[in-house]
Amino acid sequence: MIEQIKTNDSRFLEIEGRFKQEINDFISYSHKRSELTGNVNVSSNKASSYKNHLIRLILHYERIYDDPFHSFTSYESFVKLNNIKNHKGFKEFNRKKSNFYSAALGEYERYILEFQGAVEIEREQNLNQEIQNYETQESNKDLLIKNPVIKEDMTLYNLKKRRKRSINEALYAKEKASWECELNRNHRTFINRKGRQFVEVHHLIPLVFQADFNYSIDFADNLVALCPNCHRMVHYGQSESVIPALEKTYFEREEKYPIYGIKLTFDHLLNYYLERPM
Ligand SMILES: [Zn+2]
Ligand SMILES: [Zn+2]
Repeated sequence: MIEQIKTNDSRFLEIEGRFKQEINDFISYSHKRSELTGNVNVSSNKASSYKNHLIRLILHYERIYDDPFHSFTSYESFVKLNNIKNHKGFKEFNRKKSNFYSAALGEYERYILEFQGAVEIEREQNLNQEIQNYETQESNKDLLIKNPVIKEDMTLYNLKKRRKRSINEALYAKEKASWECELNRNHRTFINRKGRQFVEVHHLIPLVFQADFNYSIDFADNLVALCPNCHRMVHYGQSESVIPALEKTYFEREEKYPIYGIKLTFDHLLNYYLERPM
């Protein structure tokens, strides 16, 4: 199954060198987490053991798929490595190795999601900022996504074109919501310089999880218009307030997702919010 190569093997050192900074970051993340959970004594051994197991998984991935591992911090990379769990013989092999491979994957997932959670919020903030410039206009209905768009195609768009499309989708999402908070139409904010009530857009399926879907999730029906307070709540609130918000917004657009080729149950969505530091 997974080759138990030594840590001074040149192939091992190559991966370690390729992702030097990210790996150091992963180790200090793992240290910190052990400290927080009170395992100070074992934290340093554990973190470096996770690292070694991850490097072996990356080597294994590159060998069997003949696909170079480009990035250490994308969610897609986690999905790639995590797939190895479904391979024949992994379970037994993992058990023989005291389940350290699955533990390393779990730690890697937490690390990536914490990292990507910050990226997600920043990306949304940028979109919410940029869209302000377009709010006197109406969305261009001809440019809206109306059917499944293979996500690989998205890379064919140049960035500018892709950005323009995202803004158009966001603009349409706000129009559909009549520039009101979808959690409660009575939530009043303020009128912005373009004469609209200020609301923000939130990606119901966070964009970071794009790797779990074959088709693009960057369309208006995956966007929820929210007042700034509700928007922060959805990101940072306790499950008692987040769950009803997800219920309301999910079941209002449940039948829309198949139009875009997206299969999503409510439990699946809930898992994105509750099990993860999003
Ligand atoms: Zn959001
Ligand atoms: Zn609100």
